[in-house]
This record gives sequence, C-alpha cells and structure tokens, in this order.
Amino acid sequence: MMTTPPILMSTCLLGVRCRYDGSHQERAEMIELLKNENVIPVCGEQMGGLTTPREPSEEVNGKILSISGKDVSHQFHRGAEDILKLAKIIGAKKAYLKTDSPMCGCGKIYDGTFSGVMINGDGELTKLLKKNDIEVIPVE
Ligand code: SF4
Repeated sequence: MMTTPPILMSTCLLGVRCRYDGSHQERAEMIELLKNENVIPVCGEQMGGLTTPREPSEEVNGKILSISGKDVSHQFHRGAEDILKLAKIIGAKKAYLKTDSPMCGCGKIYDGTFSGVMINGDGELTKLLKKNDIEVIPVE
C-alpha cells in the first residue's frame, strides 16, 4: 500500500501525447518522480471532454476560447472541477503542472491574442487548486 501523500501531475509531463497538437512535454525528472512517488497523472483538457488533437485555447475576457472563437469554458471548468474532486478524495496537497497552458499554467498564461505574448496569470486548474490550498509547482 502507498504511504506517501499523492501528488497530482500534468499527464503531458510524463510523455503522454495529450497536448492540443497531439504532442507531449516529457520531463525526465517527472518520470523519476512517477517511479518513486505516489503520482496521479491528470489532464484537465481531456477530462473536460475536449478531443486530442484540438484547437489551441486561451483565456479571453474571463472565458476560454479556442483559436477559431469557440467557447470551451465549460469543458475547462468541468475538467478542473473533476481533478479537484479527485484531489480531495485522495488527499493530494501538491501538484506539478506544465507552464504556459490555459489549464495547467502557473504564474504566466498567454494574453488571449494567440500571438505568443505572455501575461501574469494562472490556468483554470491552477486557479482552482490554489483556491483549495493545494500547492502548485510549475514545470517549464
Ligand atoms: S491540460 Fe495540462 S496535462 Fe493536459 S495537455 Fe495541457 S498542460 Fe498537459
């Protein structure tokens, strides 16, 4: 039986191809954590019902819009809420999340113009976890 506290982690950091363009963001140090800690991989965008691949999305005036203008706020909220639900059930207090994502980003997000410009802010999942006293550790 696992005795270490569970840790949430962005699934794409573990080499799973769940990013909007069907790629991953594998990080060797995250794979090591997976081997040695009680890691629970989560992808809020997929869990919220979005397909892979999918259009890239950014936060625009409080909504999450895809690059073609489709409002995907519902899917983002649903995915983040389900991850919070899991976090509460398992007692997770820490999450390693991928930076620069409208879901997992921490401290910096794209500015909503789809032009690569970053502004201060958090992704939907990060906001919700922080609000519920779960520490978010950004992974570049
Ligand atoms: S939502 Fe998070 S886990 Fe899923 S692809 Fe984006 S950064 Fe990775």
